[in-house]
Amino acid sequence: MESADGILDDIPLPPHVSTEDVTFAVRAISVHAPEPCPDGPRCRNDQAPHPCRLHRWGRRLLAERGLTDRQIRALIAEQEATHQ
Ligand SMILES: [Zn+2]
Repeated sequence: MESADGILDDIPLPPHVSTEDVTFAVRAISVHAPEPCPDGPRCRNDQAPHPCRLHRWGRRLLAERGLTDRQIRALIAEQEATHQ
């Protein structure tokens, strides 16, 4: 059976990326972080092969916003520091 699920079925980005969207995307990336598994990294939140849909969505949204990898990492670290 051929299923394109998880490949083509990406979550659409909002037409205008707001600050709230950025916060939400950073949270999605940090919550949907990879977890090492024998068959490759998996999302620690939903067990989908990493990067899962929400992780990809967050990445795309932040890239759309023009954030670099380093800036994204800083935002994640910041959020993890304030979020126990
Ligand atoms: Zn996930």
